[in-house]
Amino acid sequence: MPRITEVDLHALPIDRYEGVANRGVVEQIRATAAQLAEKIDGRVVWHVNSTAAGGGVAEMLPALLGYCRGLHLNTRWLVISGEKEFFRVTKRLHHGLHGENGDGSLLDGEAREIYEATMRANAPEIMALVRPGDIAILHDPQTIGLAPALQEHGVRVIWRCHIGRAAPTDDSRVAWRFLEPYLDCAVQYVFSRAEYVPERLDHGKSKIMPPSIDAFMPKNQAMNDDAVLTILVHMGILFGPMPGKPDFEYLRSDGSRGRVDRYADIIRCGPASGNTAPLVTQVSRWDPLKDQIGLMHGFCRWLERGKDNGAELILAGPSVSGVADDPESADTFREVFLAWCNLPHETRSRVHLVMLPMVDVEENGAMVNALQRHSAVVVQKSLQEGFGLTVTEAMWKGRPVIASRVGGIQDQITDRENGLLLDDPTDPDAFAAALEQLFDDPAFAAHLGNAAQATVREHYLETRSLLDHLQLLLSHC
Ligand code: UDP
Repeated sequence: MPRITEVDLHALPIDRYEGVANRGVVEQIRATAAQLAEKIDGRVVWHVNSTAAGGGVAEMLPALLGYCRGLHLNTRWLVISGEKEFFRVTKRLHHGLHGENGDGSLLDGEAREIYEATMRANAPEIMALVRPGDIAILHDPQTIGLAPALQEHGVRVIWRCHIGRAAPTDDSRVAWRFLEPYLDCAVQYVFSRAEYVPERLDHGKSKIMPPSIDAFMPKNQAMNDDAVLTILVHMGILFGPMPGKPDFEYLRSDGSRGRVDRYADIIRCGPASGNTAPLVTQVSRWDPLKDQIGLMHGFCRWLERGKDNGAELILAGPSVSGVADDPESADTFREVFLAWCNLPHETRSRVHLVMLPMVDVEENGAMVNALQRHSAVVVQKSLQEGFGLTVTEAMWKGRPVIASRVGGIQDQITDRENGLLLDDPTDPDAFAAALEQLFDDPAFAAHLGNAAQATVREHYLETRSLLDHLQLLLSHC
């Protein structure tokens, strides 16, 4: 049975960012890629992670590596495999690096043996492909254990860690101790935020590369108003006539035309929102840290302030299967549903619980795109957040965002300049006041939206990640 798989990648044209990214960026990328091509001298850049679909890394690599290929860089993506036990240990490590204890299991000698056995099982096939002098970028704790064997093989190893927390906890220390034996085999570490670099690795070998979004994927691509309305009416979010059929609803990443065919599962009391009702939207996984219940209560406080403009709250997230491959999300959804049931009838009719089908990720992306674009205000009222890509996505669409001052959200939003930050995410009145402010002052809301888009253009577009990536590689050639 093969232990590793290689993911197919399509070359993507960086030219399409001309006129989308800031002036000069595409040229800088081409120049850096040309410099790299000269120095890299036939070597291959390998990315190794543990899943081809689902999760932030799998979401980010097709675009990043696609543009690299479009620039004639020989880059490839390998996915390791492991048994259930291995993923239990790595999930425990994942929670640990976030400062929590996950399922509470021990990161002891037995866990290390499970982890290292998986590394030993995957290593021979990787070594058969990778040659001395190549560069390997290992993603997250699942793959750093390959570093010693790769280093021994003459490969330059870079470790990219996509998770972390600002202040260490006992649990994060335990997780870092577990990873200790592998860390020195990497020549460089990459983190998403400066605050996530542990003291142990903070010696000039760590580089910060925040996440980014690709402006051309179905979730973020430009979408005309007809397509937005057609998708939202079709999904069942909005009630109203469909505009004339748009030429197409969205473009798939292979360039073909896509159409939203599935419906959303929607729990509501009464009719769907009319297409002129201002929507207040949060899109996120059903996870207690996303605080959908707190947002619902904040929205109720806003309604109580007596300045009702007909706004409706949309709480959207992935569909939760009753078969529970992710039991945590089904449990959280149930709690949100029960809290919704307990709202007074009148308020309940203004709050809609939406589950988006995930079968086709590009269709799902187009749904999220339409929803964010149609929203008067996008919210991310998380209690904790790694980076907060939903914030980036909404900012790119020029939406005014209200979000908690936590994790990477604080890197993206400067309060009152390009969005509104909630200092205390648990305070429903603070949320109500922020929403009132945006509704009272549409010019201010529009200003925040425009500034938000400029922030993403400058710091969080694929072009920035790509340039960071090429420069990183150049420094290792
Ligand atoms: N997302 C999605 N469909 C959903 C809910 C979320 O595509 O129904 C996407 C969302 O658009 C974003 C990602 O999942 O791209 C969530 O990333 P974020 O950094 O906001 O939070 P995380 O889920 O990683 O904690």
